[in-house]
This record gives sequence, C-alpha cells and structure tokens, in this order.
Amino acid sequence: EVIIGGWTSEGTRLRSLLGGVHRPDEAGKSRLVYVGRVGTGFSAGKMAMLMPKLKSVESKTSPFAAGASPPKESNMHWATPDLVAEIEFAGWTGDKNVRQAAFKGLREDKPADEVQAETPAKATALAAVVPSGARRAKSRDLSSAATKRGPSGSLGTTVVMGVILSKPDKKLWPEEGFTKLDLAQYYEAVGPWMLDHIRGRPLSIVRLPDGVGGETFFQRHAMPGMSHLIDQRPVEGDKKPYIEIDRVEGLIAAAQIAAIELHPWNCVPGNPEVPGRLVFDLDPAPDVAFKEVVAGALELKKRLEALGLVTFCKTTGGKGLHVVVPLKAEKNPPDWDTAKMFCKEICRRLADDQPKQYVLNMAKKDRTGRIFLDYLRNDRTATAVAPLSARARPGALVSMPIEWSQVKAGLDPKRYDIKTAPAILAKAKPWADYDKGPRPLRAIIEKFVKAKK
Ligand code: ATP
Ligand code: MN
Repeated sequence: EVIIGGWTSEGTRLRSLLGGVHRPDEAGKSRLVYVGRVGTGFSAGKMAMLMPKLKSVESKTSPFAAGASPPKESNMHWATPDLVAEIEFAGWTGDKNVRQAAFKGLREDKPADEVQAETPAKATALAAVVPSGARRAKSRDLSSAATKRGPSGSLGTTVVMGVILSKPDKKLWPEEGFTKLDLAQYYEAVGPWMLDHIRGRPLSIVRLPDGVGGETFFQRHAMPGMSHLIDQRPVEGDKKPYIEIDRVEGLIAAAQIAAIELHPWNCVPGNPEVPGRLVFDLDPAPDVAFKEVVAGALELKKRLEALGLVTFCKTTGGKGLHVVVPLKAEKNPPDWDTAKMFCKEICRRLADDQPKQYVLNMAKKDRTGRIFLDYLRNDRTATAVAPLSARARPGALVSMPIEWSQVKAGLDPKRYDIKTAPAILAKAKPWADYDKGPRPLRAIIEKFVKAKK
C-alpha cells in the first residue's frame, strides 16, 4: 500500500501515481517519503473512478517531506496525502523506490497515516498483518520476517518477493496442511532453477483456488486482471495471448492465484514453431510396479543415446517418469510433425520389441499390465509438467529432476514434495550438465531414417 502524494498526467489522462510511505527520519520522527511512480494498472474503469478522487485532493504543495519529494515537473500534480492505493510491485530498487508498480485499487477502509513502508526481508516471506475483517488496522509491523496473526488466527495478506499474497494460509493441500504461502515459498526457493525450463514458452497453469479436492481450472490464456508479473505471449493462430512466466516474481504471482501446476510447451524459448526438447512420458497402468517404469526409462535412455542424443530423467510427482531430451538450435530445425513422428517411431519400436511391457495406444483396455509410451507431448501445443512444478494431487509432490544414477530399484518419487525438494535440489544439483546436453535433431533423424532402410 502506498499513500498517493500526487500524480502525473498526459493531457487529461492519468499517467502515473506518485507513491509515498511513512518512514522515520534520523530522529525517529515519521515523515512522508516518496517511493516512486505507479505507472500501470489503470483500466478505463479504474481511471474513471480515480480521476474525480484525485481532483478532490489536489493541492498546491508537495505533501512529501523536504528532501524526500520528487522534483516538480510540469505534468505533475500534488495531493493532500489522504488516499491509499493498493499496488503490486516487483520489489525495491537500490534507492528504495518501488519497482514495476501496478495499481490494484484504492484502500478506502484505510487511513493514510497508517501506511508504513513494507520492507521485503530477503528470501523470506514477510507478513503484513491486516487482521481479517478489521476495517482499521491499528498497527502494522512490516519490518519483521515473522508471521503474525490477526485476532481470528488467520493471516490477512503476506508479501513474498514484493508480491502480495491474499489468504496466505489458504490450505491448497488440505491433507498435508500446506498453504498458499508454502507454495509461494516453494516457488521462491526453486524458481531460479526452474525458470530455465519455462522461460519464453507458452505456459498452461492448473489452478485450484479451493485446493486439492476442489474445482480445477486448466488455463492456457492470460486473463484480464492477471498480475503484470505474469507475461503474455502472442502465438500465431490464436487471438488470445498465452500465459508466460519469465521471472521468479511471476511464479509468486502464479501462487497467489493458486496456480499449483505449471505446464510449458516444449518449444525453443521465443519460438513456438521449433521443438526445443523432446519429452517421453511413461504412463504405467495402475497394476504396473514402479520398478517397471524405471526399467522403461532406462530402456528409452539406451535407445536415444545410441542415436547420439543426451537424456535426462525426472519424476512427475505422479505415477510415471519423464525422459527429457534437450535439442540444439540448428539452421534448419525439424518441425513439430517431424519431431513427433521421430518420437513415435522410437516408442513404436520399443513396444514392438517388448509388447508385454509397452503399448502405444492410450486406450485403457490395452494398457492393463503395461506402460503407455506417450510420445504425444512432442507437438506444437502439447505440454508436459515443468521440472519442479508442484502437483495438485494429495502428497504435494513435485516433478523432480534426478540423475540417471538414481533411476534404479528403490527410486521413490514420494521423497520429493514442496517441503523436501528445495534442500535436495540445492545439495544434489541434478541436471548440472543439461546445458551441455542439446544435440541437433535433424542430422540424428536423417541417420535414423537411413539406418532403417
Ligand atoms: P503421471 O506420471 O502421473 O502420468 P504426468 O504429468 O505425466 O504425470 P499425464 O496425465 O501423463 O501426467 O499427462 C502428461 C502431460 O500432459 C502432463 O504433464 C500435462 O502437461 C499434459 N496434460 C495432462 N492433462 C492435460 C489436460 N487436461 N490438458 C492439457 N494437457 C494436459
Ligand atoms: Mn504421464
């Protein structure tokens, strides 16, 4: 929240709000300090609501303390500091201004003199206590990293990496008691590692606003009112832009809307038409032991590596395993149809060689006792769950990247949940050679086709 100390205009239009907060000076006396501009988030509706209110508080003099005011510019208007804006912002700049601030709405229930600077504590969630239901929050200790609770025992809002979480104690995994704040902190911890695998690609999200067991929304398109920290990617052939997440704060914003699962396309970042990696999805029938899935992944590894590809393995947080094959950029890369046919052929041969273990048909009746080799993740608009994505299933497991040396008897995907995975990731450093893995697919396919003849 910031106090509106003025605004800038462009003609009759609102350009930005000048935000301020109360900070103590050296003597400990509270004064209003300018913290930067809020430059986005003004829909036509919000603008129409805001303009008359701004006009009503317009003032001739700056409300900011001496030395803490922005220099007056010709398009600047000062305001008596009565209005409080709720904003969303990406963090603080070095000179203590808000970064990428977007207007969310006015806090009409909040007296301006109660707005304090929210000081993000590094790499930890920071609790901003707004006792739920209280119209006037009396004191707000925002400098503590400890979580404080309101009278009802529930949290009001919490800030993680500068992103406001509403209902942080909402249970997203009711059985485990894991909350929205747990999810946000999980994505804060693993986000930097994870981003390499989702950045620049359309991303479908699986949202469960009421948590596991509640209604599920599989969503590929950006929607109005979505955080500006979540990017939008126009894709040819679709009028509506897709969701894209390119920074860790975007993951926190995703957690805020209960986006538990993240499913990117497998294209090259920035280029939906070009395959950037292959994903082989091993889907065991319910009666298949997990050690059979392990055997299947090793078999695929052997066959793909014999062709000169480099493979990586991850658990899915579900029943199967994914074998991931990074591809190298090349001048004339194969298109999705070609890549898909290649994957199908690899899987078909494996199923032909070991028909008791594997099947290419996803129909349930053919799957009994066998593993369905799903090559269909390898298509332009197809997705696979992202490495380290949490799963919206009981257990709060994650899709964990692992080393091939771990893909053996005793591998237990249940070891990896949103609480355990960050430390394991930091210690084990799986997929350290992923960047050295990409191979050009075209030449490999050509060799493969020739060998077949
Ligand atoms: P498991 O190991 O339990 O199979 P999984 O992530 O592989 O986990 P699948 O059901 O096999 O789950 O789905 C494979 C991939 O297909 C998913 O990771 C997801 O990206 C995509 N997918 C699954 N369901 C849908 C859906 N309803 N709409 C679009 N894509 C989906
Ligand atoms: Mn699967």
